[in-house]
Amino acid sequence: MSYVKPKKSLGQHFLSDQNIARKIVDSLGVDSTNVLEIGPGMGVLTQYLLKRKELNLTVIEIDRDSVTYLQNNFPDLQNIWAEDFLKVDISSRFNGNFSIIGNFPYNISSQIFFRVLEMRDQIPEIVGMVQKEVAERIASNHGNKSYGILSVLLQAFYNIEYLFTVPENVFIPPPKVKSAVIRLKRNGIFKLPCSEKLFFEVVKTSFNLRRKMLRNSLKTICAKLPEHYAQKRPEQLSVSDFIKLTTEIENLNK
Ligand code: SAH
Repeated sequence: MSYVKPKKSLGQHFLSDQNIARKIVDSLGVDSTNVLEIGPGMGVLTQYLLKRKELNLTVIEIDRDSVTYLQNNFPDLQNIWAEDFLKVDISSRFNGNFSIIGNFPYNISSQIFFRVLEMRDQIPEIVGMVQKEVAERIASNHGNKSYGILSVLLQAFYNIEYLFTVPENVFIPPPKVKSAVIRLKRNGIFKLPCSEKLFFEVVKTSFNLRRKMLRNSLKTICAKLPEHYAQKRPEQLSVSDFIKLTTEIENLNK
């Protein structure tokens, strides 16, 4: 088999531009020697990752044809997990930290980031290519239309950089949308001053009704919201506002 026929159901858009592939791999620092590549496909990023001898590379790929291709073409690639990233207990397989890199399957990129959040204390860095719109959302600050759940939750624990935009025509087949590469680096915050469970709940619940004022959307969590927040909408709150709000709700509910 000389190539893998792209499968739409698996979000397969193979990058065909070597310079961009190299640039993505060069964007990954050495915060951790263990690196997990999600969805290597035919290995366009993998080939450059393997050149970085300081890294201990593992790849996880759901598609059997791609796995066979990788086995045949990359004899140096020792660790191939032929599995679904969303279904494997990744964190217990690594002894300590691991970084993540990948041209992510766009249909599951948000889910990938929610998994990252669960494992955040083990993941110092992520370099990922996603839909441009998702990259903008993740990097967005309060006051912007694209600011949402993933922006707040990820920014609470990661410093986020929008690195560069990638056009449609460097993929086979070309996706319908532009792509972008982002880098997330774990910030120094290992414990929020409030309940983290409640923080996630407050953020998710307020953005689920993003047009509503917080006193309405958060009614089920807090019967009488502090005056200062009651009339605001979620996109007006910065990450630290959400942390303060959660702390106040926690105290009121005591
Ligand atoms: N990195 C390659 C392929 C990107 S396309 C390139 O840049 O060319 C996305 C890849 O993710 C595909 O190979 C697809 O099979 C794989 N994939 C899709 N869903 C997956 C999942 N749940 N777990 C692991 N890999 C997955």
